[in-house]
Amino acid sequence: MINFQYARATDVADAVRQIAAGQKAKFIAGGTNLIDLMKENVERPMRLIDISRLPLKTVEETADGGLHIGALVPNSDLAYHPLIAQRYPLLGSAILAGASQQLRNMASTGGNLLQRTRCAYFYDTATPCNKREPGSGCSARNGLNRMHAILGFSESCIATHPSDMCVALAALDAIVHVAGPDGEREMAFADFHRLPGTTAQRDTNLHPDEIVTAVELPAQGFANNYTYLKIRDRLSYAFALVSVAAALELDGDTIKQARLVLGGVAHKPWRDRDAEMQLEGRPLTRENCLRAADTLLRDARGFGHNDFKIELARRCILRALAQAGQATPQSQADKRIR
Ligand SMILES: Cc1cc2nc3c(=O)[nH]c(=O)nc-3n(C[C@H](O)[C@H](O)[C@H](O)COP(=O)(O)OP(=O)(O)OC[C@H]3O[C@@H](n4cnc5c(N)ncnc54)[C@H](O)[C@@H]3O)c2cc1C
Ligand code: SF4
Repeated sequence: MINFQYARATDVADAVRQIAAGQKAKFIAGGTNLIDLMKENVERPMRLIDISRLPLKTVEETADGGLHIGALVPNSDLAYHPLIAQRYPLLGSAILAGASQQLRNMASTGGNLLQRTRCAYFYDTATPCNKREPGSGCSARNGLNRMHAILGFSESCIATHPSDMCVALAALDAIVHVAGPDGEREMAFADFHRLPGTTAQRDTNLHPDEIVTAVELPAQGFANNYTYLKIRDRLSYAFALVSVAAALELDGDTIKQARLVLGGVAHKPWRDRDAEMQLEGRPLTRENCLRAADTLLRDARGFGHNDFKIELARRCILRALAQAGQATPQSQADKRIR
């Protein structure tokens, strides 16, 4: 274990001041990912800035009918919050599909966005990994890559983003609020996470001296017709092989608005407006769902062990859309799709 300093931030401005001072500092919120990475020698901060007591723990309604979620709202509090349960059940459902109750009690909203990949080579300091050590190579490309990306990968990295919550946030068009030395700014959720490109070490577009203060949800919550479907090796306490967030606004049999996002398949939640447009203005038929799935997966490619994910994703999209259309548990879903 390396020696590191520990300090508590008194407010957001103090947190920003401390992180901007450099010294290889990192924020710690729930600690459920960072402490593991420090134990494995993957993260080696010289200074930990504890932000867990900052007043960023409220869920509040916004003037335009949305919700403002503080970055330190624990995952369990958020999932069970009455406003989430009533108006954004897709988000609650995705959060509850992740980790375990104990972890969700500790994990924060901001920390969930910034959790790092679960690629086993990233955690194994004896192996080359461009994300951990830029320029060292990618052990997963020709290694054990069953959990890895089929979309959006690059020569340098084929890792996936492991969050469930983020897949729902992408579908809900969330906005991320951040603060830094130059003040506050907002980022569309789609712009928050990055594809690996030639800089696999960078997961997000958050600057190193910025803090996430909140996540905002727009008013449209798709509370009637939604599904978060997660396929994994065990029924709980396992990361997604493939997940799908599907949300529909229906007008009779016609889809007025569609949201379709894949998790477990890329370096960020995978959304493509072209796929959603294959559904909008049309009825929820098998043919239309297949067209949307094929569009979303048009550039998919496997690396050997993970080839099965392409067909799995296709089938999951069909099932998730059917469930969302039916607005009932999955056993009755097939009745709605023609
Ligand atoms: C065994 C296990 C199983 C899991 N399974 C799942 C799963 O199935 N699905 C899933 O989605 N997740 C899963 N998780 C991950 C879990 O959700 C994350 O570890 C958690 O959300 C991270 O939140 P935290 O507050 O503990 O972050 P921390 O560990 O405190 O921080 C993580 C990173 O975020 C940074 N950070 C934290 N807050 C902020 C902020 N406000 N601004 C800027 N930077 C910040 C930290 O510096 C650090 O780099 C699992 C974790 C474990 C250990
Ligand atoms: S996939 Fe990415 S995280 Fe995994 S070994 Fe390759 S570079 Fe590292």
